[in-house]
Amino acid sequence: MAKPIIFSGIQPTGRKHLGNYIGAIRQYVEGQDRGDPAIFCIVDLHAISVAYDPVELRERLYDTTAILLAAGLDPERCVLFRQSDVREHSELTWLLSSVTSHGDLNRMHQFKEKAGKERELASAALFYYPVLMAADVLAYRATEVPVGDDQRQHVELMREIARRFNARFGEALVVPELRIPEVGARIMDLQEPERKMSTTGGTEQGTVLVLDEPSKIRKKFGSAVTDSGREVVRSPEKPGITNLIDILAVARGTDQAAIESEFEGSGYGDFKKAVAEAVVEYLAPMQERYAELRSDEAELDRILGIGAEKARAIAAPVLADVRERMGFGSA
Ligand code: ATP
Ligand code: MG
Repeated sequence: MAKPIIFSGIQPTGRKHLGNYIGAIRQYVEGQDRGDPAIFCIVDLHAISVAYDPVELRERLYDTTAILLAAGLDPERCVLFRQSDVREHSELTWLLSSVTSHGDLNRMHQFKEKAGKERELASAALFYYPVLMAADVLAYRATEVPVGDDQRQHVELMREIARRFNARFGEALVVPELRIPEVGARIMDLQEPERKMSTTGGTEQGTVLVLDEPSKIRKKFGSAVTDSGREVVRSPEKPGITNLIDILAVARGTDQAAIESEFEGSGYGDFKKAVAEAVVEYLAPMQERYAELRSDEAELDRILGIGAEKARAIAAPVLADVRERMGFGSA
């Protein structure tokens, strides 16, 4: 069977958290041997859809690159690059606008959540974000998109955009498949377990950053919101405990049922301690490698530069085909 063409993006905003690690980064690392190629993009163009500082954007971009490398992405086995280095993403965004309706974008949950009450003041970029995301993936004719559960709707839209493009202009684009992890597709905020852990929303105490020191990780899990019961079982009425079970299952590399039986009869306190220790251990190898990688910005630039060249080599012919079909350029 042909290997999948994998594409996924991660924003360089703020600091990356355990939800990103479990929902996305973990899948990237696994994907580099399954995918041919496996393409991972640090989506700085997406990051400008909310208020940001240009100096900080650049810093966070290096942070995110170093986190991905420290987590196990190997530039020899994947394509790792900065979105803004490859102009094809912006160009295809505009071209795909013609097969995207205002109503499509109006239905997107992420926009409603992120824009909140200030919808009129939200940037047009925030509204338009899903078209850029569609272009990111479709420019590579990717067949598989590993993301967290929150991106379901955006992937569904990009599939629809690809279908409409193909129906209107001929089969130039590939309709990609969503890939979300079986366990950990939606890690919740430890303080507000009804909400996903998030870079831009979310509570500070409830967001475990992948670069948090062990003492901080222990503190955050120690104060995680649970419920008044005492059973360590998954249930819709127990979002806090369910979330902790998912996190522990991933950190230990086991399944949720194994965690439930291990903690049968033990209290929430011991359980939370076990989750904290497992997460500290889970993140340690990445954290150890991070500092060294982050300190060498020239090397990070070099790696991103090579990645951008490889990315362009794939996207440029796709764009040429799209342009041609859409009636641009001379006859
Ligand atoms: P923001 O909240 O500002 O959108 P984010 O935390 O969602 O930021 P992104 O860079 O947008 O971070 O997302 C990168 C990847 O992480 C995406 O694939 C997304 O689906 C995944 N992801 C984000 N939050 C979670 C979460 N709580 N649980 C599992 N996966 C997540
Ligand atoms: Mg997001």
